[in-house]
Amino acid sequence: MTQKWDIVIVGGGLAGYVAANFLAKNDLSILILEKGKNVGGRARTNKINHQYLNLGPHAFYKKGKAKSILEELGIKLNGKSPKLGGVLVENNMEYAAPFTPLGLFSTSLLNWKERIEWITFILKVNSIDTEKLAGQTFEQWVKQAALSKKVQSLLYVLGRLTSYCHAPEKVSAKLIVSHLKTVMGGVLYLDGGWQTIIDQLHNKAVMGGVQVQTHTAVKQIAPVEHDHIKLVLSNGEEIHGKYVICTTGPHELNKMLGEKVNLPQSSFFAQTTTVKGATLDVALSQLPNPKRLFAMSISDPLYFSVHSNYARLSEDGKSAVLHVFKYHHPDDHIDSKKVQNELEQFLEKMQPGWQKYMITSRYIPQIIVNQRLPQIGDEHKLLRSKTDIPGLYIAGDWASPHSILAEGAVSSGRLAAEEITQKEKR
Ligand SMILES: Cc1cc2nc3c(=O)[nH]c(=O)nc-3n(C[C@H](O)[C@H](O)[C@H](O)COP(=O)(O)OP(=O)(O)OC[C@H]3O[C@@H](n4cnc5c(N)ncnc54)[C@H](O)[C@@H]3O)c2cc1C
Repeated sequence: MTQKWDIVIVGGGLAGYVAANFLAKNDLSILILEKGKNVGGRARTNKINHQYLNLGPHAFYKKGKAKSILEELGIKLNGKSPKLGGVLVENNMEYAAPFTPLGLFSTSLLNWKERIEWITFILKVNSIDTEKLAGQTFEQWVKQAALSKKVQSLLYVLGRLTSYCHAPEKVSAKLIVSHLKTVMGGVLYLDGGWQTIIDQLHNKAVMGGVQVQTHTAVKQIAPVEHDHIKLVLSNGEEIHGKYVICTTGPHELNKMLGEKVNLPQSSFFAQTTTVKGATLDVALSQLPNPKRLFAMSISDPLYFSVHSNYARLSEDGKSAVLHVFKYHHPDDHIDSKKVQNELEQFLEKMQPGWQKYMITSRYIPQIIVNQRLPQIGDEHKLLRSKTDIPGLYIAGDWASPHSILAEGAVSSGRLAAEEITQKEKR
């Protein structure tokens, strides 16, 4: 039997659920198809040995669009902001991070001239007109924004920390700097992990009449006549939708459309590359060094942060949940064992003897953090969610012209829902 729906959403992650929740306000039949066993996509949190592990370090932006959009849907975001500070590591030497007034004055990383250059940057960051950076890469911008190599290297660290992108010579300065401005408004580590966002979105969607089908992979998306799209599932079943919102990555979308469908955006989708990293997610019964909660390396693309000091991330709230992360360059060849060793060594430096206290740990050598490395001019190709196939819309962290990560996923999910709602009203 062929099923017919007003709206079929491919993917039960943040983008798919946000779109479903906005659309559920109309009187439309909505189906979410999710290939995984569980919903949530990359915003999932796994409960392992009574510990809540996000898929790598996840920080929610207090001043971002995603927060206001989720709040508009009635989603509660409980958690605390991590203290700034911590250490920066350069060639095995540790320095106080100049991210707080105390760090700024006490650090031996910077001389006085560099300190002044750094403070000047911090004070003026919010007034940077990012529209003027449209034609520049992040690297070109950094070289103009700071004279000293030290301050330049701090800007690269900030760029990595906030955007996860580790390709300054490729990424768009406009997007990275505007994202950095958002993140500098502060972040939240969420109690119970990001699954709490997904659970609330899921419950509200289901209450609003949305149907969710897990374990269901879409294999093919085929336009049929002008007012329908046919979805072929991996079990051969067919589903028809008046509208389809695809929240998978751009390459997967191209694959599902196949070579016969001539979508003008396909060549742009094919050119995109992903932002990837390696994550070591760890829960310890206690921290060997409770004072050491945050570190970034300047000389290597490494991150360390204890999230449980600010968010409840275990059933009893007593353990320490932390993440160690390596930002991959798109051209990197990944040697999984070597990367694991690097992450463990970095953790050993921050928390000597951590293995003795281990409750659980999980290592993922390559995970997609954002489905699109944001490059110069991408925004012109992503102005609408609607594609040239009538009824087919895109959403996801890659599909937003001006944002990435959860900001991109949530705002593109809402945009797709709004465009469909407007079309229905006409
Ligand atoms: C290590 C890491 C750290 C991160 N840190 C942050 C952070 O600090 N701040 C931040 O804002 N963001 C962060 N992010 C990014 C954020 O998690 C993602 O941008 C967001 O969750 C993406 O949501 P999405 O809906 O676009 O995609 P996804 O979550 O990937 O959802 C897409 C869904 O589609 C499903 N799917 C794919 N193909 C098919 C198919 N053929 N049929 C059916 N279903 C399909 C997938 O299984 C998936 O569930 C991080 C991500 C990672 C991995």
